[in-house]
Formats: sequence, C-alpha cells, structure tokens
Amino acid sequence: MALIDLATEPATLTGQGVGSHLRGMVSSDPHRRKPPLTIRLCGPRGFCAGVDRAIQIVVLALKKYGPPVYVRHEIVHNRYVVEGLQAKGAVFIEELDEIPADHRDAPVVFSAHGVPKSVPADAQAKNLFYLDATCPLVSKVHKQAMRHARLGRHVLLVGHAGHPEVIGTMGQLPDGAVTLVETEEDAARLPLPLDAELGFVTQTTLSVADTAGIIRALEGRFPALHAPAAESICYATTNRQEAVEHAAPGTDLFLVVGAPNSSNSKRLVEVAERAGATRGLLVQRASEIPWDEVGAISTLGLSAGASAPEIIVDEIIAGFRERFDVSIELAETAIETENFPVNRELRDTPLTAVDMAFVNGIA
Ligand code: SF4
Repeated sequence: MALIDLATEPATLTGQGVGSHLRGMVSSDPHRRKPPLTIRLCGPRGFCAGVDRAIQIVVLALKKYGPPVYVRHEIVHNRYVVEGLQAKGAVFIEELDEIPADHRDAPVVFSAHGVPKSVPADAQAKNLFYLDATCPLVSKVHKQAMRHARLGRHVLLVGHAGHPEVIGTMGQLPDGAVTLVETEEDAARLPLPLDAELGFVTQTTLSVADTAGIIRALEGRFPALHAPAAESICYATTNRQEAVEHAAPGTDLFLVVGAPNSSNSKRLVEVAERAGATRGLLVQRASEIPWDEVGAISTLGLSAGASAPEIIVDEIIAGFRERFDVSIELAETAIETENFPVNRELRDTPLTAVDMAFVNGIA
C-alpha cells in the first residue's frame, strides 16, 4: 500500500490532448522553470467491470444490428462516453415511449444502473428487442432484496432518493415493500414497529463509512434486522475509496474525474476531504479545473470515478504538465481483475482494436 514513485511515465499517462485554451496559458519564456508538483495517482481508478461491460454492450449492439440503438437513460454517468456513443449511432432516451413507431424493431439497451421490473415488462408488451446492461453486481442487490421479501421481511434500502439504481432496486418489489433510508436521522425516525422483521440492502456506490454508520443506527433500533447474504457496496466502490483514503492525507488539492450525477465519484471527493485533502473537487474535463485558483500547490491527489474514462485522467495530467514540473507517485491499494461477460446474443460479434480502446476508456 506504499506510494510508488514512477521513475518514468507509464504508458497510459502520455495524454497530450491539451486544448488551445490550456496552451494559451503557458509562459512565453521557455527558460522559466515550472514549479514542482507531485501527483498522487490513485489505483484503482476509473472504469469498473460493470461500466466496461455496459459500454461494450452498446458498441456491440451497434456493430451487430446497426444504428440506431436506443439506450434507456445514460448508459453510464459520463458525458464523454455518452457523446462518443451518440457519434456511433446510439440514441439516448428516458422512457421507452420515446422510441418512434417506425423504429420499434431497433434494439434498446437498459443502463448499467438497473431498471424496475416494469421496464422489461413494458418492453415485452411493446414487442421491443431489449438488451439488459444492468451491472451483475446491481442485479445481485436486486436478488437480495427479493430474497428478504420472500422470507417475509420488509426491505430497507440504504441509498439516495432519485438515483436510477435506487429506482431500479425499489422497482423489483411491489409498492410499499421497500423503504428508502438515506441518513442516520432517517434510521432514527423510521415509522416501523421495533420488532418488525426487516432486511436491508444498499446502493452499490455509497460511502463505505457513512453506510456503516446508517446500518449501525438501524441495528441499534431494530433487533430483527437481517443483513443481505452478500455485501451490497461493490468491489469497485470500495477499492476506489480505499485508494483515495490512502492518497489524500497531505494533498493540497484532490481532483476526482467524474460527472455531477455520478454517485461513486461524488463519494470519492467526500472521502478525500475526510481523509485529509485540503480541498476536493469533482471535474468532468481539464477545462473545468479553475486554474486561476489552483495556486501554489505541491501535492495533488488524482482519481476517477467508475464511469470516468482514463483518457480524461491523461488530459488532466497533461494540463498540469503545462504548468508544473510534474512527478507522479502511484497510490495503489488493489489490483482489479474482475471482468463481466456481455449478453449471450452479442458474444459472436468481434470488437476491433479501435472499439476496444473506446470501451476501455483510452480513446
Ligand atoms: S460501480 Fe460497481 S455496481 Fe456500479 S457498475 Fe461498477 S462494478 Fe457495477
């Protein structure tokens, strides 16, 4: 878990895609020395196996069936990925009714966040061909919630109201069978009998520390509370938070690459600040960094949420290299080898090297 000094740049950190707005800010004096900056680069960071699989499913569907391929909700919460898929022929919709009548034979993909049971049922009723890109680890949470209900337990879902994953998990069971718990205060106020038979599951992308506090509060109030048979917070969330926790102490600024609607990315900013970063910031692109406010920093933390492609991490490092004499330390706390296979229908469709570079977030 030690920070590793990288004597040379790793192959993935060679991004040179710096826009003209950044080049314009470089000193015109070529002999002026840049201030030194250490970037603590977290590992693991960026794409998880569920995101990789979801993007692959859309790319494969486009190759196999041709455009348009409809995608219900952002396949993953990242604008770069969504725009890249749109350029290949994906059409993003929020509801199945938005598919025009003369395109009802086009495939529709459900996003990695999962969907309520009513959505595939609606697709079947409309005779649509759908491909489910729900992350297998989200599907596992759905199964745990259904198991609790089968065993006669009222289900408590720890998560954030309105997040598509929460909507999908609540929608696995009939109305009223699941109660959402967002905070420890919610846990203290739940209007349920203290001897109620309860089972909990959680959203996969929560803060590990906050969730532990909420579960402790629930256990304190409800002695008959049952845990799920398997942990709900996923490996990718846990690993990214651990790496940030490890890297953050002593950093002057901690950047997390991610979208404002990405739950796991927002949690990484909170973890960084809690672990000792002077300031945490969520950015989608290098152009969002408030360069004028960065000031005289000497240590920068850098990570990326599970839906953020590595090409943007490269872009941000390139932005700092324009202004600082950068050395990189790798703050690596785990090696990930998870890989989730795509839907059976798509396994016979090959991906080119260019497709794979997009799927892996490096192009
Ligand atoms: S963050 Fe976790 S649950 Fe969400 S897609 Fe990635 S692996 Fe799956």
